[in-house]
Amino acid sequence: MKAHSGEVGVFVRIRPTANFAQDLIQCLPDGQTVNVHHRKNSRKPLDTKKSQLSSWSFQLEGVLRDVSQEEFYTRVCRWVVLGALDGYNGTVMCFGQTGAGKTYTMTGSTESYKQRGIIPRALQEVFQEVEIRTEHAFTVYLSYLEIYNETLVDLLSSLPGLPRPSPHAMLVMEEPGRGVFVRGLSLHPVHSEEEALNLLFEGEMNRIIGSHALNRNSSRSHCIFTLHIESRSRTLTDAKYVTSKLNLVDLAGSERLGKTGSEGQMFKEAVYINRSLSFLEQAILALGERRREHVPFRQSKLTHALKDSLGGNCNTVLVANICGEAAQIEETLSTLRFAGRMKCVRTDPVVNEHTDPAAQIKKLEKEVQKLKEELSISNTLANRPDSTSKPLSEAQQAEIQSQVQSYLEGNLEEINIISVRQIQAVFAQFKLALQEQEQRLKAELCQMYNLVEKDQHADTADVKECNTRDVSEDVEAGCFEVPQSTKNAHRPSSTKAKTKKCREKQNQNKRQGDGSPVSRKRLESASRSKLNCVQAPEKEPEADTESQDTQESQLPGNVPLHPDSPPPKEEAFEDFKLGQGSKLNSILKENKAVLLERRSLLRQLTEEVNTVKKDIDCTATSIQQHRELRGDQGQYLVLEGEPLLQEPDASLLMRLRELKALYRQRYEVLRDIKAEVNYCQHLVDQCRVRLLSEFEIWYKKSFMVPEEELDVTMKKSLRQEEGMEGRPFPDNPSSESFYNARYRMMKRRNSRALGFTPVQRNSPGQRRFPPIPLVS
Ligand code: ADP
Ligand code: MG
Repeated sequence: MKAHSGEVGVFVRIRPTANFAQDLIQCLPDGQTVNVHHRKNSRKPLDTKKSQLSSWSFQLEGVLRDVSQEEFYTRVCRWVVLGALDGYNGTVMCFGQTGAGKTYTMTGSTESYKQRGIIPRALQEVFQEVEIRTEHAFTVYLSYLEIYNETLVDLLSSLPGLPRPSPHAMLVMEEPGRGVFVRGLSLHPVHSEEEALNLLFEGEMNRIIGSHALNRNSSRSHCIFTLHIESRSRTLTDAKYVTSKLNLVDLAGSERLGKTGSEGQMFKEAVYINRSLSFLEQAILALGERRREHVPFRQSKLTHALKDSLGGNCNTVLVANICGEAAQIEETLSTLRFAGRMKCVRTDPVVNEHTDPAAQIKKLEKEVQKLKEELSISNTLANRPDSTSKPLSEAQQAEIQSQVQSYLEGNLEEINIISVRQIQAVFAQFKLALQEQEQRLKAELCQMYNLVEKDQHADTADVKECNTRDVSEDVEAGCFEVPQSTKNAHRPSSTKAKTKKCREKQNQNKRQGDGSPVSRKRLESASRSKLNCVQAPEKEPEADTESQDTQESQLPGNVPLHPDSPPPKEEAFEDFKLGQGSKLNSILKENKAVLLERRSLLRQLTEEVNTVKKDIDCTATSIQQHRELRGDQGQYLVLEGEPLLQEPDASLLMRLRELKALYRQRYEVLRDIKAEVNYCQHLVDQCRVRLLSEFEIWYKKSFMVPEEELDVTMKKSLRQEEGMEGRPFPDNPSSESFYNARYRMMKRRNSRALGFTPVQRNSPGQRRFPPIPLVS
């Protein structure tokens, strides 16, 4: 059954009576309109003329007069009941004065089957549907709540086996995911119509019946009979299920206090009833105002308990029960007004769908199993090894290893992907190859620079003996001992023989060096160092040191040359510029070329501007001299407002004007070129810092040199090369800290930098600055 989106379904049911006030109540043939005419008497009894006749017209979803219980159920309630079976919450409420037929409508006669009301019919419908809808498994629970004088009463707590709760233990509560519920209210599972009816009648018996002036058996309380329905699909292995609540509400009478003549206990009851109905009306009014955010549901137990069942996301029906007699015309009017307001409440029903976590897990497990099976079948069909469960065999591992090897050697263009397991094995092989390469490299470096692994004690002793230095430094987690720089070390004379031995060993190393480009290069620079090493030992220690110092001072990089040390930075830097740093170096060169070009242009322009300035000064002086010679004789003739000048005044002034214009124009160009020079200078600075920092990283990595300061002299040489003397660094000592800090920051940033965009040259005529290389 589809949910009715829109307004609350409001119906009027007129209790049959022999004294129907035909002149006051008019039911129009459309079956939806009822007109009420009411002559309101003046408060002054004698003033009969002043009594006014007023008319009201109410248009509702249905006005039902003299309809059977069956017809009424079918027309008004059936869709709400069926909706509940589909997962929509539903509420049917009977409202009206005492004796108007609310209980008759809701429960009906407990004696006559034909006159049974909405609740027994709904129960029958539900269990009939449960029988029909075999594809769903339904669970139905019942509860029967009474609200009497703002106290919650469980009408089914009298059943055997149930503890009798104290009324104060019951409380209307709200929980996320569960909605509104009454704590302490018993829920009874029912499996058949009969079981359900037994409970209904049990509850009916427990209802508090008070004597009343209008109807001695009228209920003085609000009663909420609720069916809690849960439905799960039997056919779909779905973790989703739906729940719903069907509230069938028999409200207490809405009559006025004065008219009922209630006293004592009855008066108290009437006060509570009227108050809760008034709160119900306020809640309805608030619900009717669409823009209103707050609805006062918590003002009474009734509105709080019905919070999720009035309008909102559930199917709602209000039955306005009225008496057709003239004596009750005011109550009838009041009931119809309430019905009219209820009609304004909007509803937008939604199915209460939930997901069962346990069922969801089961469902996913099944799905995983199915997918595994499918994958296995597909692997078999494609003649691929089943990678889903079994680990790779030794043969498969060996195959992958050889593939990776061929790939690394360049004999295989690509490795075909077969399975996730195979991809993992390929990665493992890459890792292994990398580790082996690293080991090989370490071994080579050890061999080349006499570095020794700590556990090779015999060799270590030998090398230590060979080296004149006595301090070693750990480079990589204490694995290697690296000879320290010997810049100022004195070599004892007694070590001459050992030095010779050392030389022999190094020569041997040289012979052993393999043909890899790195090691060859390293060997070359090592051999260059060795030449120096061979010449030095012939001298006395003091002289030796002195000679070394002299040698060092002659070198631009001020780096000591020693057979056991890494190659001098200058040489390495040259290598770096040709190899790994070639791109960066060419960008630097390019930037420098642009800078030089701009600078020479700047010089040219400066000369030009100065020349023009001199010309201006000369011309101005000549004019001045002419004027002085001429004296104040009034030679100027004015023709048509323009000064007419005599030669040579006119020509000189013209020349001055031209020169000034030229000066302005050249000056503007000069200013622009100056800005360009500054910008190019900035780019060159950036490139240089970047080149040096990359070289430092490369140098350390390649020669396993511990962290040390960049050789300042090298920076200096670079700057000299660029003709940057006079710049704050390094010539101005006070700026050194700043530049050092800046340099370190750049270094850190550069080590993380991703790439470098080459500079673009300015095309002639275009004053477009080259883009800044990506250094940050
Ligand atoms: P309420 O619950 O509104 O106080 P009841 O349902 O108790 O009123 O009705 C009062 C009396 O009127 C009852 O005896 C009931 O049988 C009778 N009655 C009410 N409506 C009808 C109806 N539509 N047809 C026949 N009898 C009715
Ligand atoms: Mg009643």
